Amino acid sequence: MELTFAAPSTPVIPVTGSTALFPVHRIYCVGRNYAEHSIEMGGTGREAPFFFMKPADAVVPVAAGEVGHMPYPTKTSNLHHEVELVVAIGKGGAAIPVEKAHQHIWGYAVGLDMTRRDLQAQSKQQGRPWCTSKGFDLSAPIGPILPAAAASDVETAAIRLTVNGVVRQESQLNKMTWNVNEIIAELSQFYTLQPGDLIFTGTPEGVGAVVAGDTLEANIEGIGQLTLKIT
Ligand code: MN
Repeated sequence: MELTFAAPSTPVIPVTGSTALFPVHRIYCVGRNYAEHSIEMGGTGREAPFFFMKPADAVVPVAAGEVGHMPYPTKTSNLHHEVELVVAIGKGGAAIPVEKAHQHIWGYAVGLDMTRRDLQAQSKQQGRPWCTSKGFDLSAPIGPILPAAAASDVETAAIRLTVNGVVRQESQLNKMTWNVNEIIAELSQFYTLQPGDLIFTGTPEGVGAVVAGDTLEANIEGIGQLTLKIT
Protein backbone atom coordinates (compact mmCIF):
# COMPACT_ATOMS: atom_id res chain seq x y z
CA MET A 1 0.00 0.00 0.00
CA GLU A 2 1.33 3.40 -0.94
CA LEU A 3 0.29 6.29 1.27
CA THR A 4 0.24 9.87 0.02
CA PHE A 5 2.27 10.82 3.08
CA ALA A 6 3.41 9.12 6.29
CA ALA A 7 0.41 8.19 8.44
CA PRO A 8 0.35 9.88 11.84
CA SER A 9 1.72 7.67 14.61
CA THR A 10 -0.66 6.19 17.18
CA PRO A 11 -0.61 8.04 20.51
CA VAL A 12 0.61 5.76 23.31
CA ILE A 13 0.46 5.83 27.12
CA PRO A 14 2.94 4.23 29.56
CA VAL A 15 1.76 1.24 31.60
CA THR A 16 2.57 0.90 35.30
CA GLY A 17 4.91 -2.02 36.00
CA SER A 18 5.66 -2.72 32.33
CA THR A 19 7.64 -1.39 29.38
CA ALA A 20 4.61 -2.00 27.13
CA LEU A 21 2.72 1.04 25.86
CA PHE A 22 -1.08 1.34 25.57
CA PRO A 23 -2.13 2.48 22.06
CA VAL A 24 -4.96 5.02 22.10
CA HIS A 25 -7.84 4.61 19.65
CA ARG A 26 -10.58 7.07 20.70
CA ILE A 27 -11.32 9.24 23.73
CA TYR A 28 -14.85 9.35 25.10
CA CYS A 29 -15.80 11.65 27.98
CA VAL A 30 -18.78 11.62 30.34
CA GLY A 31 -20.39 14.97 31.20
CA ARG A 32 -21.96 15.75 34.58
CA ASN A 33 -21.34 12.39 36.23
CA TYR A 34 -21.04 13.79 39.77
CA ALA A 35 -24.11 15.54 41.21
CA GLU A 36 -22.14 18.30 42.98
CA HIS A 37 -20.30 19.20 39.76
CA SER A 38 -23.57 19.21 37.81
CA ILE A 39 -24.90 21.76 40.32
CA GLU A 40 -21.81 24.00 40.07
CA MET A 41 -22.28 23.96 36.25
CA GLY A 42 -25.88 25.16 36.64
CA GLY A 43 -27.62 21.77 36.45
CA THR A 44 -30.01 20.07 38.88
CA GLY A 45 -27.54 17.38 39.98
CA ARG A 46 -30.02 14.65 39.11
CA GLU A 47 -29.98 14.62 35.32
CA ALA A 48 -28.61 11.67 33.32
CA PRO A 49 -24.97 12.09 32.27
CA PHE A 50 -24.05 12.35 28.57
CA PHE A 51 -21.06 11.84 26.27
CA PHE A 52 -18.67 13.96 24.22
CA MET A 53 -15.30 13.19 22.63
CA LYS A 54 -11.73 14.36 22.28
CA PRO A 55 -9.39 13.29 19.46
CA ALA A 56 -6.95 10.48 20.37
CA ASP A 57 -3.95 12.75 19.85
CA ALA A 58 -5.21 15.15 22.53
CA VAL A 59 -3.45 12.93 25.06
CA VAL A 60 -0.44 14.27 26.93
CA PRO A 61 1.08 11.09 28.37
CA VAL A 62 2.96 11.71 31.60
CA ALA A 63 5.19 8.88 32.88
CA ALA A 64 5.48 8.06 36.59
CA GLY A 65 7.77 10.47 38.42
CA GLU A 66 7.83 12.90 35.50
CA VAL A 67 6.32 16.36 35.13
CA GLY A 68 4.20 16.79 32.02
CA HIS A 69 3.95 20.11 30.23
CA MET A 70 0.90 21.73 28.70
CA PRO A 71 1.26 25.08 26.98
CA TYR A 72 -1.59 27.47 27.89
CA PRO A 73 -3.94 27.08 24.89
CA THR A 74 -4.90 29.81 22.44
CA LYS A 75 -8.38 31.37 22.24
CA THR A 76 -9.21 31.17 25.95
CA SER A 77 -8.72 33.22 29.08
CA ASN A 78 -10.42 30.68 31.35
CA LEU A 79 -8.67 27.30 31.16
CA HIS A 80 -10.22 24.89 33.70
CA HIS A 81 -9.00 21.65 35.28
CA GLU A 82 -11.27 18.60 35.65
CA VAL A 83 -9.67 15.63 37.41
CA GLU A 84 -11.15 12.30 36.30
CA LEU A 85 -10.82 8.53 36.51
CA VAL A 86 -9.91 7.23 33.05
CA VAL A 87 -11.00 3.72 32.03
CA ALA A 88 -8.87 2.03 29.35
CA ILE A 89 -10.74 -0.48 27.19
CA GLY A 90 -8.89 -3.69 26.24
CA LYS A 91 -11.67 -5.66 24.59
CA GLY A 92 -14.19 -4.16 22.20
CA GLY A 93 -17.90 -4.71 21.97
CA ALA A 94 -21.34 -3.25 21.39
CA ALA A 95 -24.41 -3.35 23.65
CA ILE A 96 -22.31 -4.66 26.55
CA PRO A 97 -24.45 -5.68 29.55
CA VAL A 98 -23.57 -4.01 32.89
CA GLU A 99 -22.67 -7.35 34.45
CA LYS A 100 -20.12 -8.10 31.69
CA ALA A 101 -18.66 -4.59 31.43
CA HIS A 102 -15.70 -5.35 33.73
CA GLN A 103 -14.43 -7.93 31.20
CA HIS A 104 -13.77 -5.09 28.73
CA ILE A 105 -11.58 -3.02 31.07
CA TRP A 106 -7.83 -3.20 30.47
CA GLY A 107 -6.85 -0.72 33.14
CA TYR A 108 -7.28 2.63 34.84
CA ALA A 109 -5.48 5.96 35.02
CA VAL A 110 -5.94 9.46 36.35
CA GLY A 111 -6.53 12.11 33.70
CA LEU A 112 -7.34 15.78 33.29
CA ASP A 113 -10.20 16.90 31.02
CA MET A 114 -8.78 20.36 30.35
CA THR A 115 -11.50 22.76 29.24
CA ARG A 116 -11.71 26.20 27.64
CA ARG A 117 -14.57 27.13 29.99
CA ASP A 118 -15.28 30.49 28.34
CA LEU A 119 -15.76 28.87 24.93
CA GLN A 120 -17.84 26.09 26.46
CA ALA A 121 -20.18 28.64 28.07
CA GLN A 122 -20.56 30.38 24.70
CA SER A 123 -21.28 27.08 22.93
CA LYS A 124 -23.92 26.15 25.50
CA GLN A 125 -25.61 29.51 25.10
CA GLN A 126 -25.63 29.22 21.30
CA GLY A 127 -26.49 25.50 21.17
CA ARG A 128 -23.21 24.73 19.38
CA PRO A 129 -20.85 21.74 19.72
CA TRP A 130 -18.15 21.57 22.39
CA CYS A 131 -15.27 20.53 20.09
CA THR A 132 -13.25 23.72 20.46
CA SER A 133 -13.82 23.93 24.23
CA LYS A 134 -13.15 20.27 25.04
CA GLY A 135 -11.43 18.50 22.13
CA PHE A 136 -8.47 20.78 21.47
CA ASP A 137 -4.80 19.82 21.11
CA LEU A 138 -3.17 18.59 24.37
CA SER A 139 -6.49 18.78 26.24
CA ALA A 140 -6.18 15.29 27.78
CA PRO A 141 -3.12 14.93 30.06
CA ILE A 142 -3.04 11.40 31.47
CA GLY A 143 -0.88 9.43 33.91
CA PRO A 144 0.33 5.83 33.42
CA ILE A 145 -2.32 3.13 33.00
CA LEU A 146 -2.56 0.61 35.84
CA PRO A 147 -3.66 -2.85 34.61
CA ALA A 148 -7.09 -3.73 36.03
CA ALA A 149 -5.71 -6.87 37.70
CA ALA A 150 -3.44 -4.67 39.85
CA ALA A 151 -6.15 -2.17 40.81
CA SER A 152 -7.98 -2.60 44.08
CA ASP A 153 -11.24 -1.02 45.18
CA VAL A 154 -11.74 1.28 42.20
CA GLU A 155 -15.37 1.95 43.16
CA THR A 156 -14.54 3.66 46.46
CA ALA A 157 -11.13 5.24 45.81
CA ALA A 158 -10.48 8.89 46.69
CA ILE A 159 -9.85 11.31 43.81
CA ARG A 160 -7.99 14.57 44.36
CA LEU A 161 -6.44 17.49 42.55
CA THR A 162 -4.13 20.14 43.94
CA VAL A 163 -2.94 23.30 42.18
CA ASN A 164 0.37 24.65 43.53
CA GLY A 165 -0.18 22.43 46.57
CA VAL A 166 -3.67 23.73 47.39
CA VAL A 167 -6.56 21.23 47.21
CA ARG A 168 -9.08 22.20 44.52
CA GLN A 169 -11.01 18.97 43.93
CA GLU A 170 -11.52 16.14 46.41
CA SER A 171 -14.12 13.39 46.21
CA GLN A 172 -14.67 9.66 45.97
CA LEU A 173 -15.34 7.55 42.90
CA ASN A 174 -18.48 6.10 44.51
CA LYS A 175 -20.11 9.52 44.08
CA MET A 176 -20.34 9.01 40.33
CA THR A 177 -23.92 9.06 39.02
CA TRP A 178 -23.11 6.25 36.56
CA ASN A 179 -20.46 3.86 37.87
CA VAL A 180 -17.76 2.46 35.56
CA ASN A 181 -19.76 -0.61 34.48
CA GLU A 182 -22.87 1.47 33.82
CA ILE A 183 -20.83 3.94 31.71
CA ILE A 184 -19.45 1.10 29.55
CA ALA A 185 -22.92 -0.42 29.14
CA GLU A 186 -24.47 2.92 28.17
CA LEU A 187 -21.62 4.08 25.89
CA SER A 188 -21.58 0.73 24.03
CA GLN A 189 -25.22 1.30 23.07
CA PHE A 190 -24.06 4.26 20.97
CA TYR A 191 -20.66 3.06 19.73
CA THR A 192 -18.92 -0.27 19.15
CA LEU A 193 -16.11 0.06 21.65
CA GLN A 194 -12.62 -0.87 20.43
CA PRO A 195 -9.44 -1.93 22.23
CA GLY A 196 -7.49 1.26 22.90
CA ASP A 197 -10.53 3.39 23.64
CA LEU A 198 -10.28 5.63 26.72
CA ILE A 199 -13.24 6.84 28.75
CA PHE A 200 -12.89 9.96 30.92
CA THR A 201 -15.59 9.27 33.51
CA GLY A 202 -16.47 12.80 34.65
CA THR A 203 -15.20 15.22 37.27
CA PRO A 204 -16.28 15.97 40.84
CA GLU A 205 -16.98 19.50 42.08
CA GLY A 206 -14.30 22.13 42.54
CA VAL A 207 -13.33 22.82 38.92
CA GLY A 208 -11.52 26.10 38.42
CA ALA A 209 -9.05 28.10 36.40
CA VAL A 210 -5.32 27.60 36.02
CA VAL A 211 -2.72 29.95 34.58
CA ALA A 212 0.75 29.60 33.09
CA GLY A 213 3.22 28.62 35.80
CA ASP A 214 0.71 26.54 37.79
CA THR A 215 1.56 22.96 38.80
CA LEU A 216 -1.32 20.47 38.95
CA GLU A 217 -1.08 17.22 40.91
CA ALA A 218 -3.86 14.72 40.25
CA ASN A 219 -4.21 11.55 42.26
CA ILE A 220 -6.54 8.58 42.53
CA GLU A 221 -5.90 6.36 45.53
CA GLY A 222 -4.54 2.97 44.44
CA ILE A 223 -4.64 3.91 40.73
CA GLY A 224 -1.99 6.48 40.04
CA GLN A 225 -0.99 10.08 39.81
CA LEU A 226 -0.11 12.77 37.37
CA THR A 227 1.90 15.98 37.65
CA LEU A 228 1.39 18.67 35.05
CA LYS A 229 2.87 22.12 34.66
CA ILE A 230 1.07 24.77 32.61
CA THR A 231 3.70 26.62 30.60
MN1 MN B 1 -15.00 16.34 32.25
